[in-house]
Amino acid sequence: MEKKIREAARNVPVITAYDVLVCGGGPAGVAAALAAARAGSRTGLVEWHGCLGGIWTAGLLSCIIDTQGKEGIMAEILAALEARGARTMGRDGAPTRQYDIEAMKLLLEELCVDAGVDVHLHTRVCAAVRDRQRLTHAIVESKSGREALGARVFIDCTGDGDLAAAAGCKFDLGQPETGCMQPMSLMALLVGIQADQVHDFIREESGAWAASKDRLRAEMERGGTSPSYAKPTLFRLRDDLFALMANHEYGVSGIDARDLTAATLRARREVHDLVAALRSLGPPWQDVRIVATAEQIGVREARRIHGHYTVTAADLERGARHADAACHVTFGVDVHATDPGKGKGIEARTFTAQPYDIPLRALIARDVDGLLLAGRCISGDFIAHSSYRVTGNVVPMGQAAGQAAAAAIAQGSDGASLAALQALTRTPASG
Ligand SMILES: Cc1cc2nc3c(=O)[nH]c(=O)nc-3n(C[C@H](O)[C@H](O)[C@H](O)COP(=O)(O)OP(=O)(O)OC[C@H]3O[C@@H](n4cnc5c(N)ncnc54)[C@H](O)[C@@H]3O)c2cc1C
Repeated sequence: MEKKIREAARNVPVITAYDVLVCGGGPAGVAAALAAARAGSRTGLVEWHGCLGGIWTAGLLSCIIDTQGKEGIMAEILAALEARGARTMGRDGAPTRQYDIEAMKLLLEELCVDAGVDVHLHTRVCAAVRDRQRLTHAIVESKSGREALGARVFIDCTGDGDLAAAAGCKFDLGQPETGCMQPMSLMALLVGIQADQVHDFIREESGAWAASKDRLRAEMERGGTSPSYAKPTLFRLRDDLFALMANHEYGVSGIDARDLTAATLRARREVHDLVAALRSLGPPWQDVRIVATAEQIGVREARRIHGHYTVTAADLERGARHADAACHVTFGVDVHATDPGKGKGIEARTFTAQPYDIPLRALIARDVDGLLLAGRCISGDFIAHSSYRVTGNVVPMGQAAGQAAAAAIAQGSDGASLAALQALTRTPASG
């Protein structure tokens, strides 16, 4: 039997009470906090890392997918990056999906400070307090110890659904048959190569998406190492700065600290080996160097919290539309290999997704009152999640959740009532 000890009960100081508390400061969380604060709510934002942005920054992702037609905060962030010279421009002079990661960090902090968001960095949500069905406090831990943050409405943007799970919400993990989750990838930043010399290996610039990746894999194999992700990808951020996504960590869980640790240690070793293999080839790779690997391994999926609506594969197949649309998704199904025995790239699609809506109901927790969800932890099935998880969608989700929370508070509903939230946030379906 597993050995256990009982922690002593203790009084935890309640340090502040917000209208809206957003937990997790990734793309969804920043958008949620901005939307709530700008709508007049006293808003707190809790983030575990020492910067805002989640996978955009601590994860070194540097590629924003599915932004077409997205207005609001997503368009604002892209325009601000462009104005700061921090969006990568294509050969045709139009902006690409890539951006400068350090500029993104600063921009998100400035936006939140300007909007009056009370930002708590280096702070982790570790427990929740309920009064019957209603969530009343998030317990956080930091260098200041353990503290309770109260709010009238909470928004879980932790990606992994940490707050919702701590509050007792039910959730799903992985594929329904196997529980397997998509693999993790550790991003790296590279210097010492020039864009015009590695043009054929750059996704989106060589003209052929798959061919550029196959060529990069062949180069790594020529250098003596085969990547665990069969479609390794080189992204150009600037002409002399690149991001690399080249590994897959299979069969690990984003909500298991030992899995995360083991995956990170293996992944960092592999990424260094892959880059060393390229360097050994000579021109154009002779000076390629890793300047940073991500401090946070990229977790594609973890908990999908149960909401008042579950986005399903059938919604994608029929192009579902909803009166309470929070986000309109155009990105298709994108499942990275869950079983390396069957392939190490992207799994074959069984249908072509049509553009579809995510209703606000999928962002409202079913089992706990006063809790909204935004980002990759919203209520959906395995296949639907693989599509809506990209950041061009999680930002509008965050914005919708922030606006819904603020509107509910302004109406005095305290966010407890699903009907009140829905009624207050009906947005016309786009497209
Ligand atoms: C390797 C990889 C490649 C991808 N490629 C792309 C791509 O090219 N383009 C694209 O648009 N999308 C891509 N995605 C998908 C996308 O990045 C994620 O689905 C997206 O980041 C989800 O945003 P989020 O805000 O929900 O979560 P996250 O970006 O994961 O942000 C969650 C935030 O919450 C914080 N947090 C977590 N737990 C706690 C806690 N307990 N307390 C306090 N803070 C907490 C985290 O530190 C983090 O900052 C990729 C994902 C991965 C992993």
